[in-house]
Amino acid sequence: MSVSLTPPSLSQDLGKFVACHDCDLLHAKPSLAVGTVARCRRCGAVLAQGRPDHLLRSLTLTLAALIFFVIVNAFPLLGLKLGGRETSMTLLDGALELRNYGMWDVVILVLLTSLLFPLLHFLALLYILIPMAMGRIPPGAAFWFRAAGLFSPWGMIGVYMLGVLVAVVKLADLATVVPGVAVFALGGLLFCSTAAGYALDPADVWRRIGSAR
Ligand SMILES: [Zn+2]
Repeated sequence: MSVSLTPPSLSQDLGKFVACHDCDLLHAKPSLAVGTVARCRRCGAVLAQGRPDHLLRSLTLTLAALIFFVIVNAFPLLGLKLGGRETSMTLLDGALELRNYGMWDVVILVLLTSLLFPLLHFLALLYILIPMAMGRIPPGAAFWFRAAGLFSPWGMIGVYMLGVLVAVVKLADLATVVPGVAVFALGGLLFCSTAAGYALDPADVWRRIGSAR
């Protein structure tokens, strides 16, 4: 449910207002019920959401996502049994295997989107959320919160999940496919990172950063 907010007149107390972080238009500070969203009149950016304890919920889910992320990268994704031979590979092994085919551009792309960008996204978020959940604002919070938003679309976790499912279906006729620990962790990672993004109220984070300046 969206609530439309009214721009203030100049005679009113500015402490009662909230500025849109995208277009700077001032709106009267909303008091929102749980589940409601207040959007900017001019650009539609989210100003505030009725989500109590969003910092703690988002922090817990981001920490869980980071643990799943470590498991995904450290443990085998798929195992194959063929003619008495058994082999298994981690996500990183699969990416590095492409070096043997001279596909360096793909190797770099996979390492960036499967390892570096998701890791930077989680670390930037935790750098802000851990102190913020304890009532403090870390130095450079605005920069790192923007950076977390920039890294987020470059993390291709969902794409890998799809890739693994396609591989399982295609290889099932040729060999016995044994899903590794990382496959289940990938599911957990996808769920926790999506839920963490949904739980967080970015407008409230911006408000806290703004009030600490
Ligand atoms: Zn706006």
